[in-house]
Amino acid sequence: MPFGAVALLILVFLVVWLVRRTGSRPKTPIPLPDSDSIATILSTEIRFYQKLDADNQTAFRRRVIHFLQTTRITGVNTNVEETDRVMIGASAVIPIFRFPDWEYSNLNEVLLYPETFDEKFRQAGRGRSVLGMVGNGPMQYVMVLSQHALREGFRNKTDKNNTAIHEFVHLVDKTDGDVDGVPEELVSHKLAGPWIKMMHDQISEIRKGQSDINPYGATNQSEFLAVASEYFFERPELLKRKHPELYDMLEKIFLRPGTKKAPQA
Ligand SMILES: [Zn+2]
Repeated sequence: MPFGAVALLILVFLVVWLVRRTGSRPKTPIPLPDSDSIATILSTEIRFYQKLDADNQTAFRRRVIHFLQTTRITGVNTNVEETDRVMIGASAVIPIFRFPDWEYSNLNEVLLYPETFDEKFRQAGRGRSVLGMVGNGPMQYVMVLSQHALREGFRNKTDKNNTAIHEFVHLVDKTDGDVDGVPEELVSHKLAGPWIKMMHDQISEIRKGQSDINPYGATNQSEFLAVASEYFFERPELLKRKHPELYDMLEKIFLRPGTKKAPQA
């Protein structure tokens, strides 16, 4: 073959390899827990699912199965149990349940670490406080979660935290290219201005020590969206009582106009 053709062939192989490595979904379906055990885990562990009617429960189950078929979940120094997989699937579906065509195009794999880790994914040593993280650079398309935080997120019914939902809201936020607390596919153009103003007001309340919202939400707009969404999906009644305007706004963001029901965790 002439040199040009060889070079072209090598280039094509390289591009195909890179695309497969970084951007593609797995081609063969990933084996699932059986559907009875998915249904059992959803009905015992996931309050959002428990409160849906039968038709919506069927739709929710299908979305979880689709997510689990297309996203690898890998344990790092831990065993991934069926409950973990279903909890991760549920965390992915909850924020976008009212958007039937949503696909997480920016995620291929979830890595599950047993406990907290640090910014460099070290699992030992001091200063390990990270419970979850959406990767950048070489970790693009990867989410890292603490198994302990994942389970606590669904089992602790009195806090306002759910690490996995927090991380999936970051992915939703990231879909338009800017991690800025304004996911364009969910926040209409009309809503963007009032929502940004509301975020700033709420952040300054947190900074003054006058809010029950997790202070981490005052870090920036993106963290505010993620933290407020955890509260919204975990403790909707409490959020509605304490922050009715924020509740109404999040209802507009996570529910398309014309959808029937408010999500309730
Ligand atoms: Zn965050």
